Amino acid sequence: MIPAQLPANVALLLDFDGTLVDIAARPDLAVVAPALTERLHRLYQRTDGALALISGRHVSSLRHFLPDFPGVIAGSHGAELSLDAQTLETFHGLDIDPAALSQEAKELAAPHPSILIEDKPLGVAMHYRADPSLQSFVEEAMQTMLARHPGMALQPAKMALELHPAGFGKDGAVARVMSLPAFAGRVPVYAGDDLMDEPAMAEVQKRGGFGIKIGPGDSIARYRMDDPVALAAWLDAWLAASVAG
Ligand SMILES: [Mg+2]
Repeated sequence: MIPAQLPANVALLLDFDGTLVDIAARPDLAVVAPALTERLHRLYQRTDGALALISGRHVSSLRHFLPDFPGVIAGSHGAELSLDAQTLETFHGLDIDPAALSQEAKELAAPHPSILIEDKPLGVAMHYRADPSLQSFVEEAMQTMLARHPGMALQPAKMALELHPAGFGKDGAVARVMSLPAFAGRVPVYAGDDLMDEPAMAEVQKRGGFGIKIGPGDSIARYRMDDPVALAAWLDAWLAASVAG
């Protein structure tokens, strides 16, 4: 079901991959249409600045794809927060060596070249998208990594497993963003496509807002849309209606 409309005093919290852009074969191949950049600017204005990206990506990666994004960015599942291009706050307090984690993951995955290792600023992800039959191999390899790195946790994602600092999630990111002045007193609406978005859906619904699940798969979100195109069209309709109104 598609929500009839957004609350007048909405705070929009949006995932990036699979929500605003299609999932690409590799994260660095994500494609941002000029219309998306324009849409985000209009949403920022329409919400008086209550617009946030909440992503597992590093803040710098999101800024690479959306250099002019005017809102708040919570990256690395909420372990990073960036209010503007000049500020980046991190919260994890762990001594993480991403290059060493990446190297370790590459060694573990070496028997299967189709496994993609994605370097994360605060961890590493192993993708089996290219060969779903490797799921259990990847699970075992990542359990090995988890055992070696106390303070980290495993997060299942779409055709991937990610090792990142324990105690961070998109629910915490939502809470942190909603405590910012521009978001205070607003009704949070969250859109996301992945398992990692479920805690954020729960958090916004607990706060009187609602979640929108993008694409197939179980979700606790109150609403659902087919894909990023459907979400874009719905947001554009809301912008057009609110201009007319
Ligand atoms: Mg996503």
